[in-house]
Amino acid sequence: MGSSQKILVIEDDSMMLRLVAQSLELQKYDYRTAENGMQAIAEAVSFRPDIIITDLGLPDMDGIELIERIRTWSNVPIIVISARTDDEDIVTALDSGADDYLRKPFNVTEMLARIRAAIRRSETLSLPAPENSVFENGGLKIDFATRTVYTNGAEVHLTPNEYKLLCILAGNTDKVLTYSYLINAMWPGGHEKDKQILRVFMSGLRKKIEPEEHDMTYIYTSMGIGYYMPKITANKE
Ligand code: CA
Repeated sequence: MGSSQKILVIEDDSMMLRLVAQSLELQKYDYRTAENGMQAIAEAVSFRPDIIITDLGLPDMDGIELIERIRTWSNVPIIVISARTDDEDIVTALDSGADDYLRKPFNVTEMLARIRAAIRRSETLSLPAPENSVFENGGLKIDFATRTVYTNGAEVHLTPNEYKLLCILAGNTDKVLTYSYLINAMWPGGHEKDKQILRVFMSGLRKKIEPEEHDMTYIYTSMGIGYYMPKITANKE
């Protein structure tokens, strides 16, 4: 599948960089590479990538700092690659403005899927919001005007908090939302201790909208990080 999307890859490990570059080449993506933060910023300005994939551990600059700098002037989707086992880094990166993450070691198929998801998301974001907004994702439907939710045509009764949580997830499909992002969106100025409350609402919401108990169709758990709603591609029957 040919693609005109421009991708900037930032990685100081040359073996890793070659592997990523090779797979982007195969997919016919237009890409450039950078091996440190300063080079990355220069490329981000001149190349104007549609997507940035960056390692968090760079020789001259922390990946988080790089994200923060880029975010001062660009909304380009950023996918971070984390070699560290500490999930805190991923959480910090997402809260600093990264859109998604990959944990090393990752496979190329997974990386390409995350790239496609990021492209899809930015394309959706650039569309004007329809007047009578109805959100549909697989069998899930939200009618924002009447605040009504349906799964496979059947109305689901949600509490105000469950509805709000569902709307936040639906407004960010394919994007991992951290616990702190969700807590802040739900209760501005909320604290970390609200994580338990968030879990309670999440579990209530899932019981109502997921087709089967313990099923994950509409809401995925990103272990140790947060949650996200995957964009469900239409069934071709
Ligand atoms: Ca590195």
